[in-house]
Amino acid sequence: MPAAPKPANEAIRLARLRALNILDTAPEAVFDGFTRLACSVLQVPVAAFSLIDADRQWFKSSRGMEGTETPRDEAFCAYTILQPNEVTVVADARLDPRFADHPGVTGSPGIRFYAGAPVLDRNGFALGALWVVDHAPRELDMQELQHLTDLAAGISAALQLHGAVQTLSEAGRTDPLTGAGSRAALDATLAQLREAPPRNGGTAVLLLDLDGFRQINDRFGHAGGDATLQEMATRLRRTLRPRDLLVRLAGDEFALVCHGIATPQALPAIEGRLRTAMADTFALDGVVVPLRISIGSALLPQDNADPEAVLALADARLYARKRGTGDGTAANAPLASPGRIRLREALREALLPPGREPFTLAFQPVIGLGELRRAPTPWNRNPPPARAGGGHGLEALIRWPSDGRLIPPGDFIPMAEEGGLISHLDRWVLFRACAIAALWPRPWSLSVNISAANVALGGMEEMVREALATSGLPAARLTVELTETVLVHERDGALAAIQSLRDLGVGVALDDFGGGHASLTYLHRFPFSVVKVDRGLVRNLGEDARAEAVLATVVELGHTLGVPVVAEGVETLRELQILHRLGVDRAQGFLLARPVPENQVAQAIEAAIGVVAGAEIIIG
Ligand code: C2E
Ligand code: CA
Ligand code: CA
Repeated sequence: MPAAPKPANEAIRLARLRALNILDTAPEAVFDGFTRLACSVLQVPVAAFSLIDADRQWFKSSRGMEGTETPRDEAFCAYTILQPNEVTVVADARLDPRFADHPGVTGSPGIRFYAGAPVLDRNGFALGALWVVDHAPRELDMQELQHLTDLAAGISAALQLHGAVQTLSEAGRTDPLTGAGSRAALDATLAQLREAPPRNGGTAVLLLDLDGFRQINDRFGHAGGDATLQEMATRLRRTLRPRDLLVRLAGDEFALVCHGIATPQALPAIEGRLRTAMADTFALDGVVVPLRISIGSALLPQDNADPEAVLALADARLYARKRGTGDGTAANAPLASPGRIRLREALREALLPPGREPFTLAFQPVIGLGELRRAPTPWNRNPPPARAGGGHGLEALIRWPSDGRLIPPGDFIPMAEEGGLISHLDRWVLFRACAIAALWPRPWSLSVNISAANVALGGMEEMVREALATSGLPAARLTVELTETVLVHERDGALAAIQSLRDLGVGVALDDFGGGHASLTYLHRFPFSVVKVDRGLVRNLGEDARAEAVLATVVELGHTLGVPVVAEGVETLRELQILHRLGVDRAQGFLLARPVPENQVAQAIEAAIGVVAGAEIIIG
C-alpha cells in the first residue's frame, strides 16, 4: 500500500493533536456512544474513531475489531484526513489501487468497503476520522453519508470540549502570579501518590511561609508584595529537582513536594537548602527586605502512608513553629492542631455559599466609669447616658465553633483577610449584630469590628447603611471599630470612609491604640469618635511608669479633642483603679465581664456594673 501524503501544515496539526492530551487515554463513554451509533445506523460490523499521530493511527474508540493502534502507513484514515471537508468512500478496496494490496484487504479481517468522515478540531484541522468498514463492497446513499457526517461532527464537538476542559484545568494548575503550581496541582500530585505510593525512598511534603509578609505588604503595597512572592518562587524553584513540585497555596504560603527522599534525616538538609536560598539579599524600593521563612515538613510514607495526612502533618508542624509551640520537626508537633490549610478550607466552606451561619457572636460589655459615679445604668432601666456617643455598650466578637473547638478570631481573621473572605465575614457580623442590638434597651450601644482589609476594598458606608436600615438600629447606637492599619496604607480612602460613617451618625473607634505603630497624630487627622487603648498598655499599668505616662497623654489628647478613651483588657482591680485615676472614660475586660452569648448579655452587664460600682466605693 502506498503511504498517504502528509496533509498541509502537518507539524501544526500534530502539535494540536498532542496538546489535546487525548492520545493513549482510556476509553470514554461519549466516543464509544458514537461508534456504537455508527455501527447501528449504517448497518456495519466495524466502526472506529481514530486519531492520526506522526507514525501511527491510534483508536480512541472502536467496535468489532481488536487492537488499539496500527502503523500510519496502513491507515485508510491517513487518506481521509487529506480532505477535511468530505467523506472518503472506498466502495471496493480490492479495486482501489491505494488499498488493493493492504494486508487487511488481502487477508484478515477482509476489508472491502470503507467510509471515513474527518474529525476536526476548533480550527478545522483534521486530527482523525470516524470510519466504518464492511466485508462486502458497498455504497452509501445520501442519507447514510449525512448520518456519518453528523456523527463525525458530534465527535468533533466532544473532542473540542475535551480540549477546552484540558486548557482550563491546565490554567487552574498554575498560579498566574508566580508561575508555581496551584492547589489543584498539589491535589493532583497527592492523588497520584495515593494511587502509586513512592517506591524509591520517600516523598517529602514541605510547607513554608514568609515571616512578616503582612508588614511587607503594608510598607511596600501590593506591587511590593507581589514582587516578593515572585522572588520567593524563583528562589524556591532553583532548589528543586526536575520531578519536584512547587505550589503556591495562598498568600505567602508555598508547598513543595520532593521525591526520592531516602531517610527522615534528609528533611533538615532540604530545609537548610531552602533557607540558604532565601538568605541572599533582596531589596524593594532600594530597601533590603529580609526573606525569612518558616517551614513544616513531613515524609511519605515514613510519617504516614496517606498523602493527605502527610500534608496535614506538615501543616500542623508549620503552624506549631509559627506559634512557637514546637520546633516543627519530628514527632513533637501537636497533632490536634488542624493546621492552616485545613482551617482555611473550613473557613471557605463556612462562608461560601452565603446563607449558612456557621459563626456565632459573643458580646462583651464596655462600661462607662465616670457616669457610674452619678447614676448606674442597669440593663433594664432606661436613663439615657449623659454623654454623647453613649457611655455603655457591648462589643460584638465573632466566634467560630468548628469540629467541637472554638477557633479564636486571631487565627482565622488574618486568614479571611488574605483569602479575600473578610468582606463576607464582616458583613455577616455587622448584619447579625445590628439585628440583635436593635432589640436592646436604650442606651446600650453596639460596637462592631471591621477589618482594615475590608475598608481597603471599599463599600463600607453602603454596607453599614444597609445593616442599619435592615435592622432598624439607630445610627447613633452603632460604633464601627477600625485598627490603625487602615490609616497606614489607605490614608485617603480611610479618611473618606470614616467621614462618611460619621456623616451617617455612626461612631468610629480607633481600635488597638498603642499596640502597633500607634501615632497620636491619627487622633488629630481622622474624625474618630472613640479611642480604644490596647490591652498591651493596660497590662503594664502599675509596673511600667512609661505605660502610665503614655496613657495619661492619650487621655489628655482625647479629651482635648472631645474623644472618649476606652481601656481594653482590664483584668485586675488595680488596673481599673489606675485607669480611673488617669481619667479613662470606659473600661472593658475580663475583670468586668468576659464576652458572652447573646442570651447572657443582661447578666454580664449587671456583673460588670457591680464590679465597677464596687471599685468606685473602694476608690471613694
Ligand atoms: P479586639 O477588637 O481588640 O477585641 C478584644 C479582644 O480582647 C477580644 O478577643 C476579647 O475577647 C479580648 N479581651 C477582652 N477582655 C480581655 C481581657 O481582660 N484580657 C484578655 N487577655 N483579653 C481580653 P477575641 O474575641 O479573641 O478577638 C480578637 C480580635 O479579633 C479582636 O480584637 C478583633 O481584632 C478581631 N475580631 C473579633 N471579632 C471580629 C469581627 O467580628 N470582625 C473582625 N473584622 N474582627 C474581629
Ligand atoms: Ca475591637
Ligand atoms: Ca482592640
